[in-house]
Amino acid sequence: MSFIDAYDVVMFDLDGVLYLGPDAVEGGVDGVDQLVRRGVRPTYVTNNAARSTAAVAEHLARLGYPATEPDVISSAQAAAALVGEEYPPGTTALVVGTQNLVDLVSQAGLTPVASADDEPVVVVQGYDPDMTWARLEEAGFAIQRGAHWVATNTDATRPTNRGIVPGLGTMVAAVGVTVDVEPTVVGKPERPLMAEAIRRTGAKNPVFVGDRIDTDIMGAHTVGIDSFFVFTGAHGVLDLCHAPDHGRPTAIGWNVLSLFEPARVAEVDAEGATCGGVRVVVAGSGATVEGDLGTREAQLDAAWALAQLCWNGSVSDPVAVAARLDLLP
Ligand SMILES: [Mg+2]
Repeated sequence: MSFIDAYDVVMFDLDGVLYLGPDAVEGGVDGVDQLVRRGVRPTYVTNNAARSTAAVAEHLARLGYPATEPDVISSAQAAAALVGEEYPPGTTALVVGTQNLVDLVSQAGLTPVASADDEPVVVVQGYDPDMTWARLEEAGFAIQRGAHWVATNTDATRPTNRGIVPGLGTMVAAVGVTVDVEPTVVGKPERPLMAEAIRRTGAKNPVFVGDRIDTDIMGAHTVGIDSFFVFTGAHGVLDLCHAPDHGRPTAIGWNVLSLFEPARVAEVDAEGATCGGVRVVVAGSGATVEGDLGTREAQLDAAWALAQLCWNGSVSDPVAVAARLDLLP
């Protein structure tokens, strides 16, 4: 039985799962095609508020993914929906993000303004690769004067085809040092975006596929659904090992094609854990690994066994074993 057989809807994170910058992630198109052939409709859930859902769908389709605009749900949409529900039409909003976010906030009935001097009632902050220092300052001034601060997401980093880049979380932190309040966050791991994805799909037993512990996997926990962690994006073995209770995935695999394999099962005992043909043995605060690590599948087995031992407190220093695993995108 494949891991995926238990689920009626598959929700995908995008960056690091289906694409990296302009490029498709290996196995992504094949994997989503296989899902569609099984009659499972994919849903694409992104924390990135910079682009419109139409532009994201077009990007996905260009890479070969079966995607139309209604299949894409973004944190910008969720942020606009939240402020649209919370504030009456005409409420002033300082939007610190791309034109996409400005348009959505405007469509939600609010009136976008450009300056803290326009006395915005709410500040909506989202990812914008052309963000300027002056606009961050403006957001800070407005929040200092009492505006409600809404952030689309707080991802610290984003994976791209050229490497890791600073995510919106760094810009939220930049504004945050000037104010003494925390933003309302709508994207993963918080509830609004995930809840909207479940509502829109009518999913009964969905699974979320992601590359980040702190957003994707924790977001799945927030709304009480299962999750699948892949290694093609931002996070790796150590992130998995150090995941708190609410950041532990239901299963792991290399990429989207791994959804069609049986879920890994690790047998944990007092001395270590065994998964597939690999055994990880507790040694002091660390661990050693026994078995042939010559294949990626064996390395994933080792990662899953190691994670169990970290999660149950048997291993606090997973670095030596993790260093032997070549599970980097
Ligand atoms: Mg991602």
